[in-house]
Amino acid sequence: MAFSEDSKHDRLKIVIVGGGVGGLGLLRCLSTTIDPKKHTVVLIDARPAYVHLISSLRLVVSNTDNLITRSVHPYGDHTFRNKLAGNGTFIQASVIGIKFNDTGKGGQVILDNDGIVAYDVLVLTTGSILPHPIAFPTSTKAIEEYVKARQAEFAAATDILLVGGGPVGIELAGELRDVYPSKAITLIHRSSHLLNAVYPDKFRIAIQKQLQDREITVLTGDAITMSDTATSQVPKDGFITKQGKTLKPDLIPTWGMRPNTSYLPSDLLSSTGHVKIIPTFQLPAHPDVFAIGDIVDWNERVNASKVVRSHAPIAAQNVLLYLSLREAQGKDSIDIDILASKDSAKYKGTIEAIMISNGNGMSYLDILWGIMFGGWITSLSSRDLAVSRLSYLTGYNPV
Ligand SMILES: Cc1cc2nc3c(=O)[nH]c(=O)nc-3n(C[C@H](O)[C@H](O)[C@H](O)COP(=O)(O)OP(=O)(O)OC[C@H]3O[C@@H](n4cnc5c(N)ncnc54)[C@H](O)[C@@H]3O)c2cc1C
Repeated sequence: MAFSEDSKHDRLKIVIVGGGVGGLGLLRCLSTTIDPKKHTVVLIDARPAYVHLISSLRLVVSNTDNLITRSVHPYGDHTFRNKLAGNGTFIQASVIGIKFNDTGKGGQVILDNDGIVAYDVLVLTTGSILPHPIAFPTSTKAIEEYVKARQAEFAAATDILLVGGGPVGIELAGELRDVYPSKAITLIHRSSHLLNAVYPDKFRIAIQKQLQDREITVLTGDAITMSDTATSQVPKDGFITKQGKTLKPDLIPTWGMRPNTSYLPSDLLSSTGHVKIIPTFQLPAHPDVFAIGDIVDWNERVNASKVVRSHAPIAAQNVLLYLSLREAQGKDSIDIDILASKDSAKYKGTIEAIMISNGNGMSYLDILWGIMFGGWITSLSSRDLAVSRLSYLTGYNPV
């Protein structure tokens, strides 16, 4: 039964937008569960390669152990494994819009190169809009040049101000200290403790102490007053913080992340720009469209581990269930309520856990009374940043 206009061999087409952690995690699940006689997959990403965000902060500070080769994995035939081998297509393009079908049965994805890709089921996993210094461009050569330019910028700076004490600001401070033992590094954070209230104060205070022990200045309950867009321009006389401190940095990597969803109409989004979903990861108004990863509106702190272990497997199961129900009910049947099906998988959230690399680093697991651990357990992860396990996700083995 062919529902999408351009599907070859009468197979139903699953289109995945975003080949990051969510997209590759989903492909990995589908690679053992799809029926190649009935289903085919298209992966669309703006970049020609997966860029590993977990090691990106180390990458832009220094190219230790040729990290760039190990952190940037090109898409190719290896992306489509097992039952997906010979049954998947990669398209490098940016999605700029979606034409939903009124019946809720398939639609079309609009690309920035004027291309149009029809889908029977669509999965959106476009992650976050990344700020400088990890706003990687869209060609491999440009990514290499961008990384070198950031490394040179950090090398030249003597006094670096990091705005925002979330995991990324903390880890960047740690990476900088690892490479530059004597540069002045300041981390400024609006709340009275680092991170946010998802984590207990004892963990937030311990992280602060760990940074201070490494001669990183931490200013909490304070902020600079200039707008985000202007912070990359350091004024000659420096900044006066809200608490009245004068700071004279010579480099301020800009910060602030938001969901990458500008290609979607606002009625599908929450006030923060996240995609509204039901527990099957479907969009309530479009049962043939799923969203996973950083872009979803769910009360949790999304990270790669949750996306790979929970979002992707649940969405993969439900995508196939949706297609089988649709096939069983026929093209003209509109109501396919997989949420009501006993075979559907429902997301209930997962345990909050975080590992922060900074020197030996520190971790928090929200079980029992809230377990904190540092030392060698976190340092194992800090040292490697999951780089050595990447081919599990990407299918690519760098030489
Ligand atoms: C610096 C940093 C460090 C992190 N460290 C950790 C960590 O230590 N542990 C952890 O568990 N998590 C960590 N995370 C979080 C983790 O990386 C994200 O939660 C995870 O990558 C989210 O997966 P995703 O698929 O939603 O988005 P991503 O993995 O970001 O993938 C999004 C993909 O969509 C593509 N894309 C975007 N827009 C379009 C478009 N319009 N058209 C086509 N393609 C598009 C992008 O090119 C990208 O490949 C870190 C994140 C950052 C930024």
